[in-house]
Amino acid sequence: MGYPFESGRLVVCRRPAATIRAPTRSCWRGFLREAACLDYLEWLRWPEGIRCPRCPGRDGWRLASGRWECALCGRQSSATAGTIFDRTRTPLRLWFAAAWQMTSHKHGVSALGVQRSLGLGSYQTAWAMLHRYRVAMVRPGRERLAGHVEVDEAYVGGVEGGGQGRKTESKAIVAIAVEIENPKGLGRIRLAHVPDVSAESLLPFINEAVAPGATVHTDGWQAYLTLGDRGYEHERTVMRTQSDPAHVVMPGVHRVASLLQRWLLGTHQGRVSHEHLDAYLNEFVRHEALSNRVGCKAPPPGCRSSPVKLRAA
Ligand SMILES: [Zn+2]
Repeated sequence: MGYPFESGRLVVCRRPAATIRAPTRSCWRGFLREAACLDYLEWLRWPEGIRCPRCPGRDGWRLASGRWECALCGRQSSATAGTIFDRTRTPLRLWFAAAWQMTSHKHGVSALGVQRSLGLGSYQTAWAMLHRYRVAMVRPGRERLAGHVEVDEAYVGGVEGGGQGRKTESKAIVAIAVEIENPKGLGRIRLAHVPDVSAESLLPFINEAVAPGATVHTDGWQAYLTLGDRGYEHERTVMRTQSDPAHVVMPGVHRVASLLQRWLLGTHQGRVSHEHLDAYLNEFVRHEALSNRVGCKAPPPGCRSSPVKLRAA
């Protein structure tokens, strides 16, 4: 398919909606041209063909700007409106290449790595692209964890001297919930950056991450004491009275905490601010689900051929 319209001001190519086809490209090399990227986004947005947001029109023109103009009423619409690509000044082919790097590298990529490999002018541009992807990685309305779920907190960040127990100064606290599969193995995970380890911080996390009726396994920390009154089966193991170490009693959360710490220090070299940690946690959960080290019950949107809308950042 040729794209003779890349220079020119207004209506330069008339293409019936019916000619939009599901792309067959299987790697980023199919997305070296802007027009190919736009084709793909249009297919995601309008899998049945262009649809005017104002009238029943299903036919139109693609303008030089990449927008579509309805043949019936003249309304212009864009495949990128309301998505993370809305009004971006970075070419779509660079966005696509960054997405490819982010998802195909086993441990993801750092903004510095993307800046260098794509030849971007600034670190900020690379970081902002990756960050928008991270924010969009959570599937709205995803199901809560169920069955047997381990919950604990972990302290992530750089090395911190001194201090014992649950107090922290420079480290960030991450609440972790992990489904434990029967007979063994890890299921889905949920992570959240919490300000402290009080019941006011941890209980809302559990409520959002774990479905009522699940068995929630925690240590003896007082913040978890009321879980039994909130619709959960509460299994409580007081570590002080245990001969086994914590990583044996609650292997799931300790495995996830150690993978997370390694990922933050390795791929991102510990350069993750507390302010943006939640977005990085999204990316970590997605990487782990895709690498099958932990489970992913529903296929992540976008990793199959079904159309999906990207959520705005
Ligand atoms: Zn219209």
